[in-house]
Parts: sequence; C-alpha cells; structure tokens
Amino acid sequence: MASYQKLTEPKEGSRIKVLGPNKFEVPNDPIIPFIEGDGIGADLTRAMHIVINAAVKKAYDGERRINWFEVYAGEKAVEKYGEGQYLPQDTLTAFKEYSVSIKGPLTTPVGGGFRSLNVSIRQVLDLFACVRPVKYYKGIPSPVKHPEKVDMIIFRENTEDIYAGVEFRSGSEEAKKLRDFLISLDPKIKEKIREDAGIGVKPMGPFGSKRLIRKAIQYAINNGKSSITLVHKGNIMKFTEGAFRDWGYELAKAEFADKLVAESDVAGSTNKIIIKDRIADSMFQQALLRPDEYSVLALPNLNGDYMSDALAAQVGGLGIAPGANMSDTTAVFEATHGSAPKYANMDKANPGSLILSAVMMLIHMGWKEAADLVEKGLNRTIEQKYVTYDLARQMEGSTEVKCSQFAERIAENM
Ligand code: NAD
Repeated sequence: MASYQKLTEPKEGSRIKVLGPNKFEVPNDPIIPFIEGDGIGADLTRAMHIVINAAVKKAYDGERRINWFEVYAGEKAVEKYGEGQYLPQDTLTAFKEYSVSIKGPLTTPVGGGFRSLNVSIRQVLDLFACVRPVKYYKGIPSPVKHPEKVDMIIFRENTEDIYAGVEFRSGSEEAKKLRDFLISLDPKIKEKIREDAGIGVKPMGPFGSKRLIRKAIQYAINNGKSSITLVHKGNIMKFTEGAFRDWGYELAKAEFADKLVAESDVAGSTNKIIIKDRIADSMFQQALLRPDEYSVLALPNLNGDYMSDALAAQVGGLGIAPGANMSDTTAVFEATHGSAPKYANMDKANPGSLILSAVMMLIHMGWKEAADLVEKGLNRTIEQKYVTYDLARQMEGSTEVKCSQFAERIAENM
C-alpha cells in the first residue's frame, strides 16, 4: 500500500454540507477542491478562476467567495507524491468530503496498464450520471442553420451497458465456451452466433437505470423543463434498452405521477412535464430536424456517448462543451475535451469548456446570479469576436486572443 501525505485542510473557508440525497447546505465561503489538469489544464484553470472569482464578487458584492483548494492528479501528482501516484487517495477523499469539485483535463498515462484517470474517478466515487448541457452561444460557428434551437441537457448513465461490458475475442476459448453455454439455453442461438464470433455482453438493470432517470426527472422539475425523453434501442434489444424505457415509465408513475404525464396520455394541453421515449436512431434525426421539441434526455451509456458528441458538434464543438459527473452526494465538474498537450503552457487554448463547467457548478450550488453573469460575459465576448485561436480561425473579422485575455474580457463584460 502506498502511504499518502495527508492534504492539509485550507485555513479559510467552510465545507458544503450534504444533508441527504441532492440536499446541500452551501456556506458563503465554500472550499472547492480543484485539479489543475495536465497539458493545457494549468492555463484553463487559471482562466476559469479569473472568471468565476470576478462573477461571484460582482454578484454578491463580496459577501460570498470561493476558497479554491488545490488537490492533485495526473503529472502534478506524480511530481508531488512520487512515481506511479497519478491519482492519490487524498484527492478522491477530498472530492468526497467537500462534495463539489472541478477538474481540468488529465492525460491518460501511457503503458503500465493504466486505466483512464477520469474513468477511475467516476468508478471510485460511483458518479453514476454524466451530465452535459448543450446550448448555443450566438456567434459560435456551427454546421447547422438553426443551432439556437438546441437547448438540451443530456443525462448519460455512467456505470452499466458498455462501461460494464464483458467481451471475449473471436476464436478464444472463452468465446467458444460462452457460445456453447448460450446454445444450451436456446438451440436457435447456433444459427445466430457464428463459431468465429467475438462476443460482447452488455448488462443493464433497474437500479442503475432508475437512479439515472430519477436524476434527469428531478432536474427537469427543479428547472422548469417541459419534457424528458428516454432514448433507447428497445426495438432490437428488449431486455436491456427496451427495459431502460420501461423502467423509466415505471419510475415516472411510481414516484412522479403528480408532476409527469406520458406523451401517449396527453389529450390537449397540460401543465405537467411530458415524458416520452424515442428510438436512438430516430432521436438523432429529431435532434437535427426538430431540436426545439426536446429538452432533458436520459440515455444508457453508449447512446449517451454518441448523442453528447453529436449535439456538441451541432452547437459548435467540444471546445466549449461543459460537463459533470455526479452521484446524489458528489459532483465533479470537468472540461469535456482532453489535455491537448501540444498547446500546453502556451496560454492559447480555449477555456470555454472549463468555464461553462464552472457555470454548471455555480448553478448546482444555487449561486445562479453568478452563473448568469458568467454567461452574459461569455456571450458578449463571443459577440465581440474576441476569441481564442480555435474559434478565431472559423470566425470572419475576429480578433485572436490568448486564453488569459479571453478570460479577462469575459470578466470585464459581465
Ligand atoms: P484532446 O481533446 O486533448 O485534443 C484534441 C485536439 O483538440 C487538440 O490537439 C486541439 O487541437 C483541440 N483542443 C482540445 N481542447 C481544446 C481547447 N480547450 N482549446 C482549443 N483546442 C482544443 O484529445 P486527445 O489529443 O485525443 O487527448 C489528449 C490526452 O487527453 C490523452 O491522454 C487523453 O487520454 C486525454 N483525455 C482526457 C479527457 C479528460 O480529462 N476528460 C478527455 C479526453 C481525452
């Protein structure tokens, strides 16, 4: 067992108290742990701090402030804790104890059988929901005619389906044994699974699906959203994807009957939130053709993976797409892109994704006034075409600025 140097608690600030599932008490001076991140992470984190500190100060006239608490992961953790210590236990403990935290991108260490650090964080803290809001900021180059019609939030299941998938290689002894076993259960399988097939198993259950869908429904209720859509491939996979849909409707009926109504039961207008379902392939069409008819989406792991990137592209790409991984007690907000090592420490990369992840964090904490100010500052800065290289090269008449200049302008524009 590695021994860890205990992180010292910051001298100033208080902890966010978890009172129960999804119930928090946020003090005026919360301690928020952050991981700077590898590659471009240091530049982005600095920029995010500039913007968020300015917004909180302006919104609350100095009454509230965030006490940033640096914890370590990735290359900086190895520098501090020694070889191989990419994800110290102290960091995970801090994420759990302080409830809300934020991280820059982390490089996946090469070789030595390392799992992605992001996957490890999600698994150890059981952050079962990957949450990605997708909306358009005016002026951002987009490949579609009406990107402003997209205003959705994705709840992607983080622990089952292909994330818990089991696979056996074509021609392996295990694949052969599994095929034989399946044939013993149902002889028809002999025709369906060829002898040379690799075999994958995808588990999905009511516990994992319902807690994810419950979170999506609660979000829809708390934020006055008009609909929630269960996205599945139940026409083909009845007992996993189809069951995801059925568990969703079951949950809506059992726990939220006073707030939700199934689309098929709506006659005329309703003031309840509509719960509906769409087959995944049709949902991709709908996202392009009628995006304004969709608001909160709940999806199993693989569908959610595709849908997050496709929707992000529709509103201008991953460069400004925010995200969070959460349970009912712990939330880790993060930039959705990687560490882009070739731009490390050049003060060049776009901090938009991390800044908007911090906006999600402020909303989660109930600090909506500060969140609104950041969005206002960001909107204005983009409208002024004062942007980092990735956007500048696609926007006619723009001024290309450094990462830090972009952040400072957002703060000025609030
Ligand atoms: P990447 O997202 O780091 O970079 C791909 C390209 O996208 C970059 O070369 C750059 O051109 C552009 N880009 C990314 N972020 C940008 C930003 N903020 N501003 C401007 N341009 C930006 O993907 P990659 O090169 O495949 O991965 C690099 C490392 O990051 C890998 O080790 C990977 O495992 C890791 N990674 C981490 C996360 C995470 O921490 N959540 C996510 C994805 C990848």
